[in-house]
Amino acid sequence: MKREAIYKSHIEKTINCPQCGYPLPIYFKWTKLVQCPACKSSIFLEDESVKLIGKSSTLSPEPSLLTIGEPIIIENKSFLPLGKIRYSYGRGFWEEWFLKGESNREFWLSIDEGDFALERPLNIPLPFKDFRELQVGREYGKYIVTEKNSAECVGFEGELPREIKIGEVYEYAHLSKGGASLVTVEYQNGNMRIFVGEWIDPFKIKRVYS
Ligand SMILES: [Zn+2]
Repeated sequence: MKREAIYKSHIEKTINCPQCGYPLPIYFKWTKLVQCPACKSSIFLEDESVKLIGKSSTLSPEPSLLTIGEPIIIENKSFLPLGKIRYSYGRGFWEEWFLKGESNREFWLSIDEGDFALERPLNIPLPFKDFRELQVGREYGKYIVTEKNSAECVGFEGELPREIKIGEVYEYAHLSKGGASLVTVEYQNGNMRIFVGEWIDPFKIKRVYS
């Protein structure tokens, strides 16, 4: 009877793919971008309108702990993986999984080989004004910069809460105040997006159906 307690994936609405007509269930209230699983078109959602923004290539399948649409549990909290973005940093890539949490909350699980981080968007005050001034190893207030880099978005699948562009490069930095805590700052076109969370042990990620 375990299944009764799990996350119920509520469909917010269903749209039809403007390219092929495939009915696409949308599971997140604020989804902006969805890839049609049938024809691979990228579809942008805005208010009540649905706009085709081209075809995206299929990501080469990679073994992963997660599957779109299959709920997981991390430390007694349930999440529904709805989409993923793949980023390249030259020799390799990593993936950012968009998870819908309880109460329609947005979470991101970043999987970079053996490193897993679970974060949520949160506008906390940061002790610096300009992303560009950050240097790895330097302290800013209670934070130390542990990584600063740029990455190219190479593709996506599923549904996402924001628009992304394939081929777009964005900069990011990881800040730590010790322990497993993590703040990630993404920087693009002069704007910073802040995510707060922590590094997690992948063994803490449990599949609901296995
Ligand atoms: Zn389609």
